[in-house]
Amino acid sequence: MTPEIISKLFPNPLPSIADIEAKYPSRNLQAGQKVTRVAPSPTGWMHVGGIYAGLISERIAHQSGGVFFLRVEDTDQKRKVEGATEIICNSLARYGIIADEGVDVNGKDFGPYGPYTQSERKDIYQAYAKKLLEEGQAYPCFCEPTDLDLMRKIQEKQAQRPGYYGKYAHCRKLSDEEILANLNAGKPWVLRFKSNGDSNKRMLIKDLLKGDINMPENDLDIVILKGDGLPTYHFAHAIDDHLMGTTHVVRGDEWVSSVPLHIQLFVALGWKVPKYGHCAPLQKLDNGNKRKLSKRHDPEANIKFFWEEGYPEVALIEYMYNLINASFEDWRRTNPDKPAFDFPLNFNKVSNTAGALFDFQKLHSISKEVVAKMSAEEVFNAVLTWATEYNPAFAKRLADNKEYITAILNIERNIGKKSRKDIVKWSDVENDIAYFFDDTFTCDLSAFTEELHISVDEMKEIAKEFKAVYSKDDDKNVWFGKIKEIAEKHGFATDMKAYRENPSAFKGSISDVANVLRICITGRTQSPDLYQIMQLLGTSRL
Ligand code: GLU
Repeated sequence: MTPEIISKLFPNPLPSIADIEAKYPSRNLQAGQKVTRVAPSPTGWMHVGGIYAGLISERIAHQSGGVFFLRVEDTDQKRKVEGATEIICNSLARYGIIADEGVDVNGKDFGPYGPYTQSERKDIYQAYAKKLLEEGQAYPCFCEPTDLDLMRKIQEKQAQRPGYYGKYAHCRKLSDEEILANLNAGKPWVLRFKSNGDSNKRMLIKDLLKGDINMPENDLDIVILKGDGLPTYHFAHAIDDHLMGTTHVVRGDEWVSSVPLHIQLFVALGWKVPKYGHCAPLQKLDNGNKRKLSKRHDPEANIKFFWEEGYPEVALIEYMYNLINASFEDWRRTNPDKPAFDFPLNFNKVSNTAGALFDFQKLHSISKEVVAKMSAEEVFNAVLTWATEYNPAFAKRLADNKEYITAILNIERNIGKKSRKDIVKWSDVENDIAYFFDDTFTCDLSAFTEELHISVDEMKEIAKEFKAVYSKDDDKNVWFGKIKEIAEKHGFATDMKAYRENPSAFKGSISDVANVLRICITGRTQSPDLYQIMQLLGTSRL
């Protein structure tokens, strides 16, 4: 390509390659230290899979004592949404996925390898594009969308592979004179990479997460610089991950088929190829079939869903660990009190490379365990923080009744394995504790007659009798003794063995009588410890 063409394509002064490389010295890594990154596009929301992939990346770096950074990939200006970087930063930080370098909530850079926002790196991409052009590894393409459409149609008709390659790579064959004439005529252009790959040859890719993959070489002359002067993902990936010293690229597996191209770009630019790991998207069961969690159909694809519902952050992270390595569960059992981030993730053992199934039941059981380990104060504060944002009326109730609600949350808490495990997420709590407040307490005794085989009148009678003997000063044994007496009087078994051997000899068992009291006081058959509830609520409802 003649200097005249090159200067017409890049009329503005660009930094020299030597200056750029000097600005991004290679990182001084100790043996084994790894550098990874998350590189989300600011399109307005964060996919729950972004947290999953972000966690894997962060762990790979930090477990090795290396560096984890955040890069904002905004080269697709049409998809860019205001405030999206803030959402990304907040989402990651919320789950403890903390970058050592990158962009902060306010869009400001921190760290020595910036700028970390791609749209601010235009000159750098252009400088390398110009270099490839000078070396004959790139060329301008003047094909218009209609030309490319026509090409696609011909390829389709002739059952050929789609794409800009071989005989279809029209502008690859343009002479300098033709290029110059096009430029002089003011024709718009993009820059294409001149691939030297052969699609009949295959290459072995060693993927960190998927294992060995055999793929054909790339022979497509892909666009590296778009009409707006910004790079495509492929070109920006190679340049940024080289300059920023990424050793391990972990990303979604929609990019796995581009690895041969990416390797080619690194080689063409004379750089060391990073290691790749591709994460399959999270799946969900839909009518018995596994499918990708979809942005359009599944609210839980958006991380905001977990905030709105009030899932504890630790629970989601523990659940993700579980998805990544099935051995997490055993580790958790032997290390019940360690933070999840202490679990040594094994990247050779990522479960379900075909796509981990997002299983709410499992998340819920993990979340119950997580909440069970928190103190009443911690639960109270977490619920208040959640409610302040998502349920202001409930937030007011919490703030106005701090002591009382903390005491409610303290029922059956901090008693080891037997601690209550009824709370999954913060949005559950309003309903869970509703019966502790007269204005939200409801009870319809007749709804339980069938289940308990006790008439409403008898329920009322039992309640009345218990109320007459109840004393707040009774310890739990005395309290229970009083229930026992009433049970016996009404013909309910107090000896469970005798009851099991001959149930028809009794109206029911003592647990039915306790349940009557429970229903009268809470309006439900399931509740934490009734003795402790009565300590708080007394017997006014009996
Ligand atoms: N910006 C790319 C995306 O959001 C990131 C891929 C990568 O991590 O390299 O898909």
